[in-house]
Amino acid sequence: MKTLIKNGTIVTAADTFRGDVLIDGETVAALGAGLQAPDARVLDARERMVIPGGIDVHTHLDMPFGGAFSTDDFQTGTIAAAFGGTTCIVDFAIQEAGGTLRRAFDTWQRKAAGKAVVDYGFHMILRAYSDAIGAEMAELVAQGVTSFKLFTAYPGVFYLDDGSIFRALGRARDIGALICVHAENGLVIAALVQEALARGDVAPRFHALTRPPLAEAEATRRVIRLAQLAGAPLYVVHLSAAEALDEVRAARAEGAQVMAETCPQYLFLSHENYEEPGFAGAKYVMSPPLRSAARQEELWRGLRNGELQAIATDHCPFNFASDKQLGREDFSKIPNGAPGIETRMSLTYDGGVAAGRFSVNRWVELTATAPARIFGLFPRKGTIAPGSDADIVIFNPGARTTISARTHHMNVDYNPYEGRTVTGVPETVLSRGEVIIENGRFLGKPGRGRYLKRAPQGAGEANPWKTVPQDASPRTR
Ligand SMILES: [Zn+2]
Repeated sequence: MKTLIKNGTIVTAADTFRGDVLIDGETVAALGAGLQAPDARVLDARERMVIPGGIDVHTHLDMPFGGAFSTDDFQTGTIAAAFGGTTCIVDFAIQEAGGTLRRAFDTWQRKAAGKAVVDYGFHMILRAYSDAIGAEMAELVAQGVTSFKLFTAYPGVFYLDDGSIFRALGRARDIGALICVHAENGLVIAALVQEALARGDVAPRFHALTRPPLAEAEATRRVIRLAQLAGAPLYVVHLSAAEALDEVRAARAEGAQVMAETCPQYLFLSHENYEEPGFAGAKYVMSPPLRSAARQEELWRGLRNGELQAIATDHCPFNFASDKQLGREDFSKIPNGAPGIETRMSLTYDGGVAAGRFSVNRWVELTATAPARIFGLFPRKGTIAPGSDADIVIFNPGARTTISARTHHMNVDYNPYEGRTVTGVPETVLSRGEVIIENGRFLGKPGRGRYLKRAPQGAGEANPWKTVPQDASPRTR
């Protein structure tokens, strides 16, 4: 089965050129001008961009939370991802309290099997560190789980002390794994939450007020220092505060091997959303919380100039009409998380490329190529090149669409970007050569997505923390 994508503008992290893409089976066979393949199905990409499928390295599908689960499972979540131009995800498997990593890995494999419609990998969340867990980490690396997430937040649940974090970093360094960190000072936040509740401050906005930017900056700085002490690279997930970016920038200037992602919610929404009437602020309760709009431009600048390496979503949907209501009388009981797996590509094209903040090549790099490099998927994923998986999006840079819960495909009853009109729409989406989205319809089959064994750190051709933007100029399209 061959497919020929004709007359498009092919965009990778490095290049923009007019041409055709020939796909043979599941992989890209050739790129060039005037390609011929009489036996191929032809897709016309005139006036369209042909980009690598997006890669979202931060999702929480079917995630257990207080007896319930995040509302998108691997079927609804990956279908929504595909509609949004994302053809690969890395989801977080979670070690149970006292459980083995193997058991968590098997549990998440079962969650995805028969459901996922695009390819997927797993990170593993550690709740503790011990020699036994360190031994298991190496077994997981052999299974393709090459990144582990630790928390400085959520005491009594995911919180790890500095000694455990330091030991896990050292172990990761030795086995070619990457430590990812959720950096907020959980002990300080717990004290602030207790004070707020004692005062009777129970509304959603107090979620943000009890998780101040400095609590993120402090933990970010501390874990970067622990990584430097261990001689290990570090990836900071969902960086939200400019104060934390200041710490990443300073450490990178010293040569620290630290990378960081941010998410669309921290670029487009702000703590003013917590003031929405009634209880609507609960829609935006996530951790870290939304920040001041005044410093958002610093995150955009960080994305442009290479201080931030990736854009992911932290997609973790809960219904407003039911789940979020658990915190009506107490913000600390509102399930943390919001939907975003479907809107990432259009939002960041609109705010990044169409608004002139960075080039289209940088956009591809932030949403696909760099995540693939950092997490051991490159060059199989994250670019359009002979031999790469034909995960490709035909993207209409001129089309506009209005985001709404009435039309989105995520299994959740609200959209944080409701009513926002964006420029740039993924139209046709291919996953390993198969057209799975066309003319607004999903054509794939649940379960067609495959588990991705990711490569250890340093195994690929790139040294991810050394990557600089291919093009940091603010040109558009
Ligand atoms: Zn998360």
